[in-house]
Amino acid sequence: MSEKETRTLRVSVGDMDCPDCGLKIEKRLRQLSGVETAEVNFMTTLLTVNYQPSEIKPRSIEQEVENLGFSVIGPNRTIQNQTVQFLKKRHHSIATCGLLVCLGFLSSLLFFPPLSNVFYFSAILLGGYSFAAKAFYSARHWILDMNVLMSLAVLGAVLLGDHLEAASIVFLFSFAQWLETYSVDRSRKTIRQMIDFTPAEASVRRGGLDQRVEAGQVRVGERVMVRPGEKIPFDGKIVKGFSSVNQASMTGESLPVDKKENDQVYAGTLNLQGSLEIEVTHLWKESRMARIIHMVEEASGRKAQSQRFVDVFAKYYTPAVIGFAFLAAVIPALFLQGDLNAWFYRALVLVVIACPCALVISTPVTIISGLSTAAREGILIKGGLFLEELGRIKTFVFDKTGTLTAGNAEVKGVYPLAGTPFSIIQTAASIEKYAKHPVAEAIVAYATREKTGLTAVHDFQALPGLGGTGQIEGQSWFVGNHRYFEERGLCSKQIEETLFPLESQGYTSVLVGNEREVLGIIALSDTLRPETGEALKRLREEGIGTISMVTGDNRMNASAIASQISLDEFHAEILPDEKANMIGRLRKKFDKVAMVGDGINDAPALAAATVGIAMGEKGTEVSMETADVVLMSDNLMKIPFAVRLGKETLKIIKQNVALSIGIKMVFLALAVAGWSTLWMAVAADMGASLLVIGNGMRITFLRP
Ligand code: ADP
Ligand code: MG
Repeated sequence: MSEKETRTLRVSVGDMDCPDCGLKIEKRLRQLSGVETAEVNFMTTLLTVNYQPSEIKPRSIEQEVENLGFSVIGPNRTIQNQTVQFLKKRHHSIATCGLLVCLGFLSSLLFFPPLSNVFYFSAILLGGYSFAAKAFYSARHWILDMNVLMSLAVLGAVLLGDHLEAASIVFLFSFAQWLETYSVDRSRKTIRQMIDFTPAEASVRRGGLDQRVEAGQVRVGERVMVRPGEKIPFDGKIVKGFSSVNQASMTGESLPVDKKENDQVYAGTLNLQGSLEIEVTHLWKESRMARIIHMVEEASGRKAQSQRFVDVFAKYYTPAVIGFAFLAAVIPALFLQGDLNAWFYRALVLVVIACPCALVISTPVTIISGLSTAAREGILIKGGLFLEELGRIKTFVFDKTGTLTAGNAEVKGVYPLAGTPFSIIQTAASIEKYAKHPVAEAIVAYATREKTGLTAVHDFQALPGLGGTGQIEGQSWFVGNHRYFEERGLCSKQIEETLFPLESQGYTSVLVGNEREVLGIIALSDTLRPETGEALKRLREEGIGTISMVTGDNRMNASAIASQISLDEFHAEILPDEKANMIGRLRKKFDKVAMVGDGINDAPALAAATVGIAMGEKGTEVSMETADVVLMSDNLMKIPFAVRLGKETLKIIKQNVALSIGIKMVFLALAVAGWSTLWMAVAADMGASLLVIGNGMRITFLRP
């Protein structure tokens, strides 16, 4: 027998009309042997199951979901069409159901009372069929979902002879579900807009001719023509033409960006005026946009803290109220004389009140609004959890190079020691070509401008926070900061005499040398981003108490930058793992600490922070993967907005939870006192659901 292995099944689930459907599916699947975890993301309708293939087949898992009354849609089809169909399919029968209830009521008043029962029963059958079927499956597995509860209430009302009441519950409940599906679907819209784009065809230049080719047939390296007004189908580099491109779908910035030859363009962005000829660098699946979408889908599955609370509450709430309802029906029958039917009726009202729908939907709807508002602004948040945490942050730590500064460092001077300026630049650039660091890019750009040419380098290695090394003609060469050369014992008094004055003027200085000698020093300078000052000010307005800077750069340079902005403290010459340790210490003191960074060297710190925020445009892949939040447009002004969004989300979730529990409690009291009717309880449930949905969607009006 092979070793135990776990596989993952990911499918979309259709026909989910209330978030407790998600809980139900999770619960049922976890009962199966061979299933390790099951998680439903109500908002993206994605079901993720980890299972043991030796014990259970994926098909049987899907079968179970179908048995519960849902449809299973393959991982590649989007759920939205399904939802729209569901809404369309249902609205006729719901409208007819409503009409039948009215006719029944009229005929009981006017024409012929027995006829009214025919109308009522038709309404019950027509409207109740779909949830009764689901209720049957759930009840069989001892899952008390709202379909079971409503079916019980309807059945009870029929037993009591309250046919009008039974029919109106059926109508109200179906209508409520429809409305809920509709409004939740609306709030899924932003994410859908992102996901909906997949290129169908592209004009490819083949053998000198432009051909329309199916997107799946296009290969990396081919040339694709994009006309004005078309969406760019793949990531690529412009080989001919210039245009401006609206990248709002990706970065949230609606200002068009000018693009010319050699510039990078992204799949899913909109080409505005010019025709472009593009060399494909990534197909759709590997494109930036597809990866972002993937991250969003993965992300929103991670449950927020408040959602956990609500799930747990709902788990105990329903059985508790049902137990209560049971007592209300049984105890009077055993010990009291008098109107037993009245008590039975009260018990039925309690059964309706046991349905936790508004409560269960209150949190996810708020979180998804928050996440999609963030996405609209180009802030990618990998889960409700981090959105909430953003609202609780007290301390921010920023990396310097590439984060507070634009990362467009420029070579300002070359200071030869043992070498010539030419050899210094050529050697440095040859090695730096392999590094992804703003300093490295600046040196390579400078070498290109000076036309030094490059020599062959083998075995390049990056040393985050220090520099890089590589082999040239069998010899090791080093490019990096003072600390790096100091550590290898390559520094000397004489070198420092040239170095220190440069550093005290605020330059970032890079030494170039081998085991024996230092060829020279390159001085670079980098400027603050234009928005840095304002962004920090806004953060303070959002109540952030401490803002500090950490950098691997030299102390003098750090203090020169720090003096231009309002920081509480700064730390220079910090290595990557020290950055992470520092975050750890800060977390002991302040608990909630956010770290903002762009480099490989920031990754450990991003991981250690409560919320790690990465720069998504120029930042490194590693930092984006490690971070919990990615700023697609590298605009620091998005950070105070994200904090505000987090706070607002926390506030609205609290309101929603209070509101939905409050309404339940009021009706619980009314029911016990005998003042609430069944239809009032159903209407209250529906009202509460709509109220929390509306309240949650308020977040989408928030603007930076
Ligand atoms: P920050 O923390 O401010 O983002 P880093 O930790 O990325 O800065 O880099 C710190 C210092 O390490 C840089 O200022 C530079 O001196 C040196 N360094 C890092 N990578 C390189 C490289 N590829 N080439 C030269 N120097 C480098
Ligand atoms: Mg950096």
